[in-house]
Amino acid sequence: MSVLSGTTPVGEPPTGMPHPDGVLLDVRSLLNDEERASYDSIRKHLQSDVRHQSIDYWNREDFAFDLLPGLADLGLGELELTDTTWLYRGLVYAETARADVSLSALVGIHNELIVGMINQLGSEEQRRTWLPRLRRFEAIGAFALTEPDHGSDIAGGIQTTATRDGDEWVIRGSKRWIGAGTIADFALVWARDTEDHQFKAFIVETDRPGYTATKIRNKIGLRIMQNADIELDDVRVPAENHLPLAEDFASVNEMLRNSRVWVGWQAYGLQMAALDVARAYATEREQFSRPLAKFQLIQQAIAEIAGNAHATLGLMMQVAREQEAGTLQMMHAALGKSTGTRLTRESVAKARALLGGNGVTSDYEAGKLFCDAEILYTYEGTYEINSLIVGRAITGVSAFV
Ligand SMILES: Cc1cc2nc3c(=O)[nH]c(=O)nc-3n(C[C@H](O)[C@H](O)[C@H](O)COP(=O)(O)OP(=O)(O)OC[C@H]3O[C@@H](n4cnc5c(N)ncnc54)[C@H](O)[C@@H]3O)c2cc1C
Repeated sequence: MSVLSGTTPVGEPPTGMPHPDGVLLDVRSLLNDEERASYDSIRKHLQSDVRHQSIDYWNREDFAFDLLPGLADLGLGELELTDTTWLYRGLVYAETARADVSLSALVGIHNELIVGMINQLGSEEQRRTWLPRLRRFEAIGAFALTEPDHGSDIAGGIQTTATRDGDEWVIRGSKRWIGAGTIADFALVWARDTEDHQFKAFIVETDRPGYTATKIRNKIGLRIMQNADIELDDVRVPAENHLPLAEDFASVNEMLRNSRVWVGWQAYGLQMAALDVARAYATEREQFSRPLAKFQLIQQAIAEIAGNAHATLGLMMQVAREQEAGTLQMMHAALGKSTGTRLTRESVAKARALLGGNGVTSDYEAGKLFCDAEILYTYEGTYEINSLIVGRAITGVSAFV
């Protein structure tokens, strides 16, 4: 029996390739029937309708509002609210990243951090107000943790403050890099309570006086995502905008673990995109009167990209099992994120080189993938910080400071 038996390719391979989707390990069969059908629909839509359109949005640094209804119809706005396996969720994140990394960032942050926090740490009223619109992407939230002067050390260094004043909280500070900051309906803002000095999270509607978001332009990657610098100039929110269960940093730790896992799945998806691009080019482009794929060095590059991608897949599958068993620790998430993104950098560089000159332009997608890989390497805890978490788990010694 073929290792791929049961997989449904998006379309027939144009050149009769035996593994049209490039996946050599049969993971899809581990999903239940309902998940498999849903995964296939998502994959088909992303590959046939989203992927090619995303390049133009990426070039223009524009947010792809028009693509959101299609993603909502496929349930991508409510992954956190439906009873599916972590493996399904991971594979869906990967397929989204295979189509476009910015959109997969939106989908991942939306489910793991925005919907996740409101659903798990919010009040009944907050759930009633926001979840129905969030599940359809009719509302968009931003996760506002990082600050201009505190990135890797944000847990100890947060400067944004929240001061209780009667029935309101007054929030003051600056945030940097906040995804969807300029287009969101609200930001989930992390601040330190000036009274008990604990971390707290607040829903800050973006039309409140004192909230200003400025788009960060000229990013080399994640260009569809609208990242922003945010100023919070004594923004007043009602007391009920505080997420009641977001009482300290530990309360969000589980969600941050899971969102780090999502980046590991992005790494797998992005490498599969690199494999798609490299394979298509190698079979179509001719030099020395034969397709590039006839050259052994080219086949080696393709095999190495496939090897990196499948190594990431295997790692993430086991991470998903830890999530399913309720045994996921930060070191597991950090291992998946750091290893996956390290391999991704290598994979996209090989794909880019395989396309020669055409590899440096986003028109052939390789240039876009190459740049987006840099973002995976850095956000959700940099590669170095995640390596330090793994190193601490192995040695028992913390090397952070
Ligand atoms: C495109 C993009 C989107 C993002 N989206 C969001 C978002 O939606 N919401 C949000 O809150 N944040 C977001 N971030 C912020 C992101 O999480 C931070 O950029 C990241 O945590 C690193 O912080 P920093 O950029 O301040 O780098 P720094 O912390 O200043 O690090 C600089 C360098 O020093 C290294 N370094 C730092 N400390 C150590 C150490 N102890 N040992 C060894 N090396 C160290 C780092 O690895 C890095 O190489 C986003 C970032 C980017 C680039």
